[in-house]
Order: sequence, then C-alpha cells, then structure tokens
Amino acid sequence: MTDIPKNHPRYESLMAREKIVSGVERGLTSRQGLTAQGRGEAFDYLLGEKTIPSAYHAETVAVCLLLLAEKPVISVNGNAAALVPKELVKLAELTGSVLEVNLFHRTPERVSKIVAELKKYGASCVLGENAEPLLNLDHERAKVERNGIFSADVVFVPLEDGDRCKALAEMEKLVVTVDLNPLSRTAQTAHVSIVDNLTRAIQNMIDLVPDLVLLSESELWDFVEQYDNKMILADALEEMKEHLTEKQNELMGIESPKE
Ligand code: ATP
Ligand code: MG
Repeated sequence: MTDIPKNHPRYESLMAREKIVSGVERGLTSRQGLTAQGRGEAFDYLLGEKTIPSAYHAETVAVCLLLLAEKPVISVNGNAAALVPKELVKLAELTGSVLEVNLFHRTPERVSKIVAELKKYGASCVLGENAEPLLNLDHERAKVERNGIFSADVVFVPLEDGDRCKALAEMEKLVVTVDLNPLSRTAQTAHVSIVDNLTRAIQNMIDLVPDLVLLSESELWDFVEQYDNKMILADALEEMKEHLTEKQNELMGIESPKE
C-alpha cells in the first residue's frame, strides 16, 4: 500500500482507495469496483464527507430491523469485503445476522476468497458458495443462497446493484442498503437507504447496538413505523444543495446567513 501521511487532508478517502486497490490485487474486488468507489467518493464530497443526521436516523432504523428480524442476513460484496471486513463480522455477531457473499461480478474464486477473508476476521459461517439462481433476474445476477438471502426477512445489502435491490424489495423482505447516491435505483428501491459512506455507516451501526439492544420489541417497532425513506432521500439531496451553496458562498466571499 502507498504510505499516506495521517495529516493528509484527504487521509480517510485515500485510505479507502488503497483498500479497494488492495482488494482488487488480492482477488476480492472486481475491477469495476474501482469505478463504483469513485462514484461514491464524488457523492461523499457533495455531502461534506460526514454522516448527516438523516443518515444517522436511517442507520438507527437499520439496526432496529436487524435486531427485530427472525432471519437477518448481511450481504457482502467485493468492495465491502475490501473496506470493512472486520466490521461486517462484528455487526453480524452483535445482531445475530448471517453473512452471505453476494457478488454482481460473480466468480467461484472470488466468492471463496471473500469467505476466507471474513473467516480470517472471526466469522464462523459464511454463505454464498452454494448460491442458486432464485431471484427474478437473468441467471448469473439471480444467484443467492436458499437458506440465506432468499429466505431472509431482513436483508442488509450495502452497495447493491439497482436491479438486484429492486428484485429483493419486490419479495417479502425488508431491504436496507448503504449508498452515497440518493438518486441511484438502489437508494430509491430499498426500504431503508443509508446515504453515508459504508466505512462510517457500519461503525455507527456497531456503536448503536448496545443502546438499541436494551429496548423492547415495541420500542424498536416505533422507530421503524415512524420511518419515511422518501424523506430521508429528500433530506440527503437538501444537505448536498446546502453544502454546495455554502461552498459557493465561501468562494465568492459571501458570508452565509446566520441560523
Ligand atoms: P444503481 O445500480 O443503484 O442504479 P449505479 O449503477 O449508479 O446505481 P453501481 O455502480 O451499481 O451504481 O453501484 C455503486 C454505488 O455504490 C454508487 O451509487 C455509489 O454511490 C455507491 N458507493 C460506492 N462506494 C461507496 C461507499 N464506500 N459507501 C457508500 N456508497 C458507495
Ligand atoms: Mg448499477
């Protein structure tokens, strides 16, 4: 990996880039994953590279759903495996979720490498190697495990492709995603769309578990029932607009109006 000084203003973003490159070199991540990361980075820039309050709210509801689910499954793709393998294992452990490797550019070798990577971080069981074409999509894109994503009641699919997210949302399951682009089909078809960088979102979700786990089921349902995904997406767009106006004013030497 390239040595990036910690005081570099873009340290976090550059480190994430290094991790994706290393994922490609180790055969975990597809080359297409590099451009997906780039698209995400651009939207993160517009957000000011921070977790906005509405995304934190979506993260809270996502954890509520994982805790309420009878069969929660966390889907892991090549970018997620390169960026946050340890955190994915931790979140699965804390919420009693099953991990499943779920790839858009699927090869048996990549699936096995990601399974091994997650096991290296302590996962005892990782599904994905016995996927069958069970979704309503063309053969390769349709593959999920019968005892995993196919039969889950809540599925957490960070960085999912739009078609597959739609196919999952049309089944009897609640779909939670992480996608920095509030305009993507993934963000627009999931039931809960977290508009945040996966690296921040997953850490926030892990940190939320100890408090949420103390709540009763009906208190957790209250969070879920009050949730409105359209409002969350609209708020993310609003935050981007405000951030851009602020930057525009800075550039022009105009003082932003006080709250
Ligand atoms: P869709 O298929 O949902 O319409 P798309 O085709 O524009 O979306 P894809 O290439 O399928 O996008 O998936 C990449 C998506 O993942 C992008 O929307 C990008 O914003 C998002 N993304 C990439 N890296 C991250 C990350 N680290 N955290 C959060 N989101 C990310
Ligand atoms: Mg896509």
